[in-house]
Amino acid sequence: MRLILLGPPGVGKGTQAKILVQQLGVPQLSTGDILRSAIANKTAMGLAAKEIMDRGDLVSDEIVNGIVSERIDQADCARGFILDGFPRTIPQADELGAMLTQKGLKLDAVVEITADVDTLVSRVAKRASETGGARADDNAEVVRKRLEVYRELTEPLVNYYRGKGLLKTVDGMAPVEEVTAAIRHALGA
Ligand code: AMP
Repeated sequence: MRLILLGPPGVGKGTQAKILVQQLGVPQLSTGDILRSAIANKTAMGLAAKEIMDRGDLVSDEIVNGIVSERIDQADCARGFILDGFPRTIPQADELGAMLTQKGLKLDAVVEITADVDTLVSRVAKRASETGGARADDNAEVVRKRLEVYRELTEPLVNYYRGKGLLKTVDGMAPVEEVTAAIRHALGA
């Protein structure tokens, strides 16, 4: 199963991805997690990405495309993967399509998880307090910036994937288990 989870920051993509990893037996591929670990390890890529991430902007398509291309070649992705936080722009989606075609692979579905903006801001604030502010980009101002970036650059992917007949939409305001059930229902899995 090759799946994309699409949705604004704080909607629960990461939470759902982790549950689906257990249930579907394919790995989560979070470009945000990979970038945060690059920052923690002080790699050249991490150093280049940190400032951009801290202010809520997107790192370059080139960096994230490279991360994803390398990651999906690894053995644990042979049966599929759950993309969480990628693609985030139309050029990234085009590149993903080209990458998969070149590797002889196909996407099964794109699941859009929806929620209203006020809920998202308060959810992310809650995550910040629960994790002791571990993510530098989880403060209210940066969250609003990330939502703006989502609307401008990432939301167009909804129509992009609808046009390809791959889009499924689920309501992310429901309790976690209900969202998981809705995703599995939408996937027929
Ligand atoms: P996330 O953990 O998915 O919320 O990502 C946190 C931050 O990492 C984002 O705000 C971006 O700065 C960066 N990032 C993660 N994935 C991407 C991507 N696909 N394209 C560009 N930047 C990304």
